Amino acid sequence: MDGREQTTYLVTGGAGFVGSHLIDALLQRDERIIILDNLATGSPENVPRSPNVQFVHGSVLDTLIVDELVRQCDVVVHLAAAVGVKLIMEQPLRSLTTNIRGTEAVVEAAHRYRKKIMMASTSEIYGKNAAGPLCEDADRILGSPTVVRWSYSTAKAVDEILANAYHRERGLETIVVRLFNTVGPRQSPAYGMVIPRLVHQALREEPLTVYGDGTQTRCFAHVHDVVDALIRLLDTEEAVGQTFNVGSSEEVTILELAKQIGEMCDSDAGVRMVPYHEAYEAGFEDMMRRVPDTSKLRALTGWSPRRTLRDILTDTITAVRREGPVLTP
Ligand code: UDP
Repeated sequence: MDGREQTTYLVTGGAGFVGSHLIDALLQRDERIIILDNLATGSPENVPRSPNVQFVHGSVLDTLIVDELVRQCDVVVHLAAAVGVKLIMEQPLRSLTTNIRGTEAVVEAAHRYRKKIMMASTSEIYGKNAAGPLCEDADRILGSPTVVRWSYSTAKAVDEILANAYHRERGLETIVVRLFNTVGPRQSPAYGMVIPRLVHQALREEPLTVYGDGTQTRCFAHVHDVVDALIRLLDTEEAVGQTFNVGSSEEVTILELAKQIGEMCDSDAGVRMVPYHEAYEAGFEDMMRRVPDTSKLRALTGWSPRRTLRDILTDTITAVRREGPVLTP
């Protein structure tokens, strides 16, 4: 310790992918961490064994636990959410409840105890707006509420509006981060995310499933770069009351991505094109392009991503090789 006071962070969803990497970075700074996670998609293996970490197995829907833990911490980082297009499509009702009621419980407790709160939102907020790069005040373009995918976007928008209202009307210190596609070691292939899925498939010598015609693009950021952005924002007083995109600007089509993964994994199995209605359900809508404008984050904190798509794939492939590829559902 450098003589300064240890800060206690409550990280909801701390046993998940982004949360566990954030906790590693906070531990490097010798902070204290309380994790609240129901292990629905997180894993106990992601919880570091450290005297500075307290793990609570529970849900953000449990208002008594949330109240108690928020009271004990200095800063809340609310990451607990139902994420992943596949999971949302399979469990729309549960996803909606977790994302709306869970956030309401956490934000209300943060207000009750006057604790600063960072809340994770998503690039899904922009819906089908494919005019990249998207800045934070870009329009949301959504399809019908009967298309399940948009319920996730709507739930997260409700969360953002709640946080903004608590900030404006009640003075709660809030920071909203809209995470774009984030990748790296420990990301499960089970919830639909394309890179872990394709890497597991390639290392099992299975054809790589490319949905639609593969011309849709995404920008993938390394989770270490994303965590760096979150920590810079948490450390920056002027970030309070604001919303920030966090993501990479290196754009790639999904078909190119699949080819690169196949090559890097020495897979001969090739690519299998899967129509959207087969991959998800009839009427599924994808976004054809999603590129963040991160100039706001950069201007305030000096952040820029340090790792390329190749670095991300190298790290992910190394981790999956080490742990052994599994069958992708
Ligand atoms: N995708 C794909 N094959 C897969 C999984 C996903 O081609 O096995 C596509 C998906 O349709 C989308 C892109 O990859 O166009 C990114 O999907 P992901 O679910 O990772 O993130 P999001 O759609 O939220 O950007």
